[in-house]
Amino acid sequence: MQNEIRKSYDANEWSLVSPIEPSSVGCALCPVSEEKTKETYRIEDKKGNWIVRSIVDPYPLTHPSMFKLKENGFFKSFSAHGWSEIVVETRDHTKELHELTSEEIKDVLLIYINRVKYLRSLEKVEFVGIIKDNLHLDFDHSYSRVFTLPIIPEYTKMKMALFNDYFFKNEKCMYCDIIKNEKESPRFIFENESFVVFVPFSPKNNYEVWIIPKKHYACISELNEFETFTLAETIKNILTRLSIVITPFRYGIAFHLKPNNEKDFHFHIEIFQKTFHPTLKEGYGMNLCKITPENIAKILRGK
Ligand SMILES: [Zn+2]
Ligand SMILES: [Zn+2]
Repeated sequence: MQNEIRKSYDANEWSLVSPIEPSSVGCALCPVSEEKTKETYRIEDKKGNWIVRSIVDPYPLTHPSMFKLKENGFFKSFSAHGWSEIVVETRDHTKELHELTSEEIKDVLLIYINRVKYLRSLEKVEFVGIIKDNLHLDFDHSYSRVFTLPIIPEYTKMKMALFNDYFFKNEKCMYCDIIKNEKESPRFIFENESFVVFVPFSPKNNYEVWIIPKKHYACISELNEFETFTLAETIKNILTRLSIVITPFRYGIAFHLKPNNEKDFHFHIEIFQKTFHPTLKEGYGMNLCKITPENIAKILRGK
């Protein structure tokens, strides 16, 4: 079956149906399997060996097939048209993202930036996402996914609606104001020259952390080299803190970038503890936190 994006009967929600089973033969991302994968970009060392590379996703969320809308009564779906790539974050099969140096994480970010710029330019791309987790569902090796969708997912749509509404009413950016407020709040964790890190006021679950650039950038691709390195340091710093308090350490990261056809946005990164959703969430879509955001920030600040 081709991957499909299906509309819910009774909610403004879409489900991505991607029924491909990963194979369990060897590690497809290790240097030894290099020839078996189709590379799209690489950063290499002086000897010409790759340090970080991106490849065509062996288990793609979306693929560049014909864009087809299927509508049959209330069954509405699209072919999941788009591009899906895997970023192999390290040559080392045993290392996780937070164990890399800031310099190595910077190379991962440079690959994200390169792929986002390229994928944005392709046809029928509404949305470019970057996601990462350490559950190793598809590969045993540390990886992330950069992918496109032909629609804007519901959570991003909500963010855009509130962002545009805030701008219309106040003539300024909601996220620029969020940073100003959270820098003074008990949910603040740390900041550096380019980024502010804090626990959001109303988290989706325990241990959710947001990273927002101080400058009003719509996309990660606007960061200069120094800011890209600072983001790498920021990610290493917060993941190291989270790895101490989340046991077992299971987390996810989602980069929220400006959708292709929107005028403006303020990009940001959400890091969250990976859990089995509580029934309140799965039954009613209501988030559940068992610790206050202020207490989480206190733990992560270390004071
Ligand atoms: Zn491997
Ligand atoms: Zn802003």
